[in-house]
Order: sequence, then C-alpha cells, then structure tokens
Amino acid sequence: MNSLGVIRVNLLIMGPPGAGKGTQAETLAQELQIINISTGDMFREAIRQGTEMGKKAREYMEMGELVPDSVVVGSTRERLSQPDCARGFLLDGFPRTVVQAEALEDMLETMGIVLDGVINIAVPREKLLERLMGRRICRNCGASYHLRYNKPKVENKCDACGGELYQREDDHEDVVRNRLFVYYKQTAPLIGYYFAKGVLREVDGARPIAEIFADLQAAVSGLPVAAPH
Ligand code: AMP
Repeated sequence: MNSLGVIRVNLLIMGPPGAGKGTQAETLAQELQIINISTGDMFREAIRQGTEMGKKAREYMEMGELVPDSVVVGSTRERLSQPDCARGFLLDGFPRTVVQAEALEDMLETMGIVLDGVINIAVPREKLLERLMGRRICRNCGASYHLRYNKPKVENKCDACGGELYQREDDHEDVVRNRLFVYYKQTAPLIGYYFAKGVLREVDGARPIAEIFADLQAAVSGLPVAAPH
C-alpha cells in the first residue's frame, strides 16, 4: 500500500522538454512506491553501454529528433513486463506520439492494466529555452540541476554524490530549438488525446519545484483510483 492507500497505480507524466518532468517524476514515483520509467534515461543508458538500441537511438537524440516508434514501443513493452512494475509505474517521456499512445493502450489492455491518470506539466514556450539550456546533469548518478533555479551547493558538483555536472548534448541551443519544434508538432497532440479520454490532469509548471510537486500530489490524490472504496 502506498501514500494513496492503493496497491497499484499506473501513471503517465507529460510536458514539453524542460518542464521538469524528470525531477518531478522521480520524487513522485518514490512517494508512490512505484517504478519510474524514463525512456530518455533508457536510451542514454543504452548509449553508454553501446548496445544495438543505443546505437539506433543516438543519431536521433543528437539531432533532437524522436527515436522511431518501432524502437521505442518494443523497448517500453519489454520494460513494462518486468516484475518491478507489479505495483504500478510512472512513465516519463513515453508516449511521445499518437502511434505510441495507441501502442501503449494495446500493451496495457493485453496486460489487463488500466491507466489511472495522465499528468501534464504545462510551461509556456518562452520559459523552456532558458530552462533547458541552464540544465546540468550529474555524470555519476543522473541527478538534475539548473544554473539558476536549482543550483548545486558546490559549483559543478552533485549534492547527492559529488559527481561532476555536465550539459547534455541535446541541451545545446540548436538541438533544444529542434526538440521544442518536434514536441509541439508530434507530442502536444497527446494532450487532446488524453483529455478526450477523461484521464488528463494539468499542473502549472512555471513555478518553483516544491509548489509544482504539491500540485502533482493533489492531482494524483484526486484521481478515481485514490477515491475511498
Ligand atoms: P528525454 O530525456 O525524455 O528528454 O528524452 C531525450 C531524447 O530521447 C528525446 O529527445 C528523444 O530523442 C528520445 N526519446 C525519449 N523518449 C522517447 C519516445 N517516447 N519516443 C521517441 N524518442 C524518445
């Protein structure tokens, strides 16, 4: 049983690049005691390990393009069937296209699982460029910081593990601009897709991290799955 008083909860977290999805997803998944699945992290790990999937993903990621649906759908299906998803999951960064959303629906139906909620962290476009370009990541543990909004205590060092901070290749300006273009063209239509299904909850992401998290908690505890039985 988790803080919602339920055994299992299955969620998606969405938002444009730079909305703070990764940071929020990690904390929320911890609180709900569910597994956080980030397809971006999956690909970065595959690239680090030099796997076939990593090789395929790399060229797209470097340009700020989406990895083809066929690659993403297969690896996400495999990930969701692992035993550590039995208490539920928080998917971060998947689906990113309507084709992926439809594939997810099929996957979950086959597995006999219901999607309990989709949370969209909304941030105006003009804030996203600054957020993405100021982002720094720990080379060692992957923790995320921001040069202005979430500074590490010691410059260039991770608070959690002391690892060196670096700027992701795809957080450089030209790639960031393309990622935003791709987001509005291919991923933003999913907001309407999930709204029409009645599972969408929106959170204002243009605020401090702690306030956004409080809203996320409120959104999740208002989902039908959390209602007293
Ligand atoms: P993220 O860490 O979520 O910002 O993802 C980084 C990059 O990984 C994206 O810009 C895409 O190139 C790739 N990626 C992650 N998730 C997906 C997905 N669901 N579909 C296609 N590409 C993805």
